[in-house]
Amino acid sequence: MKMKGSGTRFDPVCDMNVTERDVTYKSDYKGRTYYFCSFECMKRFQDNPEKYISIHGREAKV
Ligand SMILES: [Zn+2]
Repeated sequence: MKMKGSGTRFDPVCDMNVTERDVTYKSDYKGRTYYFCSFECMKRFQDNPEKYISIHGREAKV
């Protein structure tokens, strides 16, 4: 399985994998780009980015 590199991205809101080239919805936050399957997910992330980032424990504790 190829999990890293370009191509597949992770939607932190709904736990879905999204394909980078298909992604319409993305958001930059703290120097990283996050990808979303839908406008809804993007909005939810932008409302409270810390919540979704911390769920997965990546650079969570600020
Ligand atoms: Zn989503």
